[in-house]
Amino acid sequence: MSAFVDFFSDTKTRPTAAMRQVMANAEVGDERAGEDPSVNRLVERCANLLGKEAAIYLPSGTMCNEIALAVHCRPGDEVICDASCHLFGFEGGGPAALAGVMLHSLPGDRGRFSAAQLQAALRPDRPYAPRQRLVEVEQTANLGGGTIWPLAQLDEIAAIAHGHGLLTHMDGARLLNAVVASGVSAADYARGYDSVWIDFSKGLGTPGGAVLAGSAGFIHEALRLKLRWGGAMRQSGIIAAACDYALDQHVQRLADDHANAQALAQGIAAIEGLRIDLAGVQTNLVYFDIAREGLDAPALCSRLLARGVRMGEMGPRTVRAVTHLDVDAAAVERALAALRVELA
Ligand SMILES: *Cc1c(COP(=O)(O)O)cnc(C)c1O
Repeated sequence: MSAFVDFFSDTKTRPTAAMRQVMANAEVGDERAGEDPSVNRLVERCANLLGKEAAIYLPSGTMCNEIALAVHCRPGDEVICDASCHLFGFEGGGPAALAGVMLHSLPGDRGRFSAAQLQAALRPDRPYAPRQRLVEVEQTANLGGGTIWPLAQLDEIAAIAHGHGLLTHMDGARLLNAVVASGVSAADYARGYDSVWIDFSKGLGTPGGAVLAGSAGFIHEALRLKLRWGGAMRQSGIIAAACDYALDQHVQRLADDHANAQALAQGIAAIEGLRIDLAGVQTNLVYFDIAREGLDAPALCSRLLARGVRMGEMGPRTVRAVTHLDVDAAAVERALAALRVELA
């Protein structure tokens, strides 16, 4: 048994030995000049996977979101999103600082707003109102609990947006978790969205990298911002090769993460003093609340850590545990055992 099991985030994975081997052998070139064959192959593969004309390789998911906003919008424009989304709370105010946009956040159901909520948020085109420009969704919804937007709801949101002259963007940091959990393809989930991206540094287990996809014109503009903001790299095929390997080897196994998350959630549901909404556990994120008096999330997390189990505090009484490549069924058992002792 290892000394430490890390449920803090699916970003905590370390590249496997096989992935490192692929990285060591990667064909590389000057990515900034479009000469890295591993990067070029990866973006073509991702454009196909996501059903878009073109794609661009970027260092991070955050840069995918921020570039997409800046390409789609002009300063002063309004972007409609869920109140819990990554853009809103986790990107350092980037939407305001970089794209100069206003965020209009809707209180959705576990990170997913409804067609009716979107309809109600639409403004008539008035000279004194901000120009509405973009609707953003997150598949899966991270702070919503790793919840999956149903395909029909995504299609409906996109149809309303487009019908009103707005563009659409999908933050697909964990899109492939939704794909594996539901059987719906990535291209189908993204079909109503003008731009979409996937992250390789989450459940796919690479040291970094994200790919943003859209129309050829959109990607052309995204490249200008990638260069402007210093996101262009040199022999980044070393990481792109890991991303390509992850698409081959680490997608189907996301089902194991989902099964481990279910086992963890079921175990938590059986512990008195903890509260969990099992219907909200749909992929690899497990959020639960502490109902016991005298115990809060910081205290519980530090006691768990002393027992070699790391989880993340997401609020005064809310804890998040994330399953991924580096935690197995035994790690889940170990986490449950630690929780039972602390709540006893
Ligand atoms: C992690 C995450 C991002 C940002 O991705 P990075 O690669 O960490 O920059 C964006 N959106 C969601 C939903 C995420 O979970």
